[in-house]
Amino acid sequence: MSSPAVAQHLIAGELVGEAAKERRNPARLDQVAVLSPEGGKAEVEAAIVAAAAAQRSWADTPAPARGAILLRAAQLLRERSDEIAEDLVREEGKTLAEATGEVGRAIGVFQFFGSLGWASTGSIYPSSFPGTTVTTRREPLGVVALITPWNFPIAIPAWKAAPALISGNAVVLKPAELTPMSATHLGRALHDAGLPAGVFNVVHGRGRVVGDALARDRRVAGLSFTGSTAVGLQLQQTLNSRGARVQLEMGGKNGVLVLDDADPRKAAQVVAAGAFSLTGQACTATSRVYVTPGIRQAFLEELTTLASGYTPGDGLDAGTKMGPVVSDSQVERHVSAVQDAVDAGSRLLHGEPRADGLYFAPVVATEVAHDAPLATEEIFGPILAVVDVPDYEAGLAAINDSPYGLTAGICTDSLAYSTDFTNRVEAGVVKVNRPTSGLDLHVPFGGIKDSSSNTFREQGHSATDFYTWEKTIYTGTD
Ligand code: NAD
Repeated sequence: MSSPAVAQHLIAGELVGEAAKERRNPARLDQVAVLSPEGGKAEVEAAIVAAAAAQRSWADTPAPARGAILLRAAQLLRERSDEIAEDLVREEGKTLAEATGEVGRAIGVFQFFGSLGWASTGSIYPSSFPGTTVTTRREPLGVVALITPWNFPIAIPAWKAAPALISGNAVVLKPAELTPMSATHLGRALHDAGLPAGVFNVVHGRGRVVGDALARDRRVAGLSFTGSTAVGLQLQQTLNSRGARVQLEMGGKNGVLVLDDADPRKAAQVVAAGAFSLTGQACTATSRVYVTPGIRQAFLEELTTLASGYTPGDGLDAGTKMGPVVSDSQVERHVSAVQDAVDAGSRLLHGEPRADGLYFAPVVATEVAHDAPLATEEIFGPILAVVDVPDYEAGLAAINDSPYGLTAGICTDSLAYSTDFTNRVEAGVVKVNRPTSGLDLHVPFGGIKDSSSNTFREQGHSATDFYTWEKTIYTGTD
């Protein structure tokens, strides 16, 4: 049995905090996976002071030199990838392959934004004034706060921190309570890469304490949040009330439409991968599927066979395809949501309303009404609601009839249907014959409706827009 990993705050370039709070391994509840410190207002204050003191000289550092530090951090993350991925499995529960992929994502993100140290950050315009040149350039916001969830505990902090840092901001990260170690690894890599003290800070602790203090502090010029819709909308009000910039990526209820002309096996592979990978705990996971009559039986047979391949197990055991659910409260939510659906008349083709510890087998529920909770509410687990629809139009309307709009998909061989779907579906990311989860790192990502603040996109070149503002400079040359 391995000894617990030890998470720490990173404040003003120092790894600090008495690590006393236990986080148990969701795969082996008798094992303490991580010990972490619990920060409060004093740690938030110290981190903001350090960030504010470091930010100007970081912004004045030539961008290629800032980029070189991010590239060095990517290199260190690569060298430490095995250790980080194992710690990530122990604190969050996903499989080692999924965790290794996630660390790889963080590495790629730092490579991408590190290379942007050489990119243009402005434009030159002609002027209507004689002897004058107009240029624009992007300026950092200053000190920014990042609040992140447990489900991608290194990738999400990385994809927020890297664009913030390359743009010349100083950062205070508040990671999720359940996954303090991944954020600690990220902080260590940046620190060891030579990032000046105070430019990147990590404060562990409760959302209502640490997160709230960051949101309210007037020295924090912007806040990027990923997490639940309820918390995000509350933070938005706080930031709006003091005129600060806010970016929210929140919940989802991602639907896939499977049409008669699709190949049943391929469609089932797309839907199963979207629904059950990462234990269904991805904001982009498929949680509702709309099926037209002609493909229904063949598709459901294939899907049930695939679901039975996702037997939950310890993510560190070779061959485990699906890890446990992250916490007691989440697994209880899964069980009661499935029980309620059964009580309302749904049929389970796979899975049951029960768990063994935090192990919960994937659920495929049919005879789910279009407006039933299983088809409308975010549960955030490996639970798929199958809803019958008569035709394409009814399926598209059902997918759009949701307060969420993060990802959506269609399985079809028809160019006409796939084109119409990509035009009319209300979602920030659309997939044709591909799982709703799984994203590239160099293209914009974000949702619409209650899934996002729908202001600034994350990832790729769009990501730096949130962390910068545009200055317009008129220079007389005569
Ligand atoms: P959560 O909203 O409970 O917590 C997210 C973060 O907010 C945590 O760090 C938490 O400590 C903090 N927080 C909680 N209450 C706070 C408060 N009052 N003030 C300030 N901070 C507070 O979400 P979670 O359970 O960690 O993550 C699951 C949710 O995240 C799901 O709804 C999922 O859809 C969403 N998510 C969305 C995306 C996306 O890109 N859209 C990606 C991943 C996860």
